[in-house]
Amino acid sequence: MTKSYEEIPLTPISNTPSTMNMTGLWRAFRPIVDISKCKRCTICWKFCPDAAIKLVDFVPVIDLKYCKGCGICSAECPAKCIEMIKEGIE
Ligand code: SF4
Ligand code: SF4
Repeated sequence: MTKSYEEIPLTPISNTPSTMNMTGLWRAFRPIVDISKCKRCTICWKFCPDAAIKLVDFVPVIDLKYCKGCGICSAECPAKCIEMIKEGIE
């Protein structure tokens, strides 16, 4: 059963990059954004747990020093324009 907003427990949210941890070193998958399909909705920016996404004219730019490759941005993107590719395969 879907819970309402009020029923979901509060959770800690970081709004700063993991500057002490450099979480990009954890990454096994890398997000690739197809800018031509991006709707500039900023949802990926809002959902990134490491604040690894910066916006330039509302277009996401991913800082790979902090992107740990979790894929949340890809899962949440309504335009399905963020593809997760395995590191080492370009
Ligand atoms: S995969 Fe996306 S959501 Fe996850 S850390 Fe990297 S940019 Fe942020
Ligand atoms: S969620 Fe997708 S469509 Fe929205 S800004 Fe990010 S990449 Fe663009």
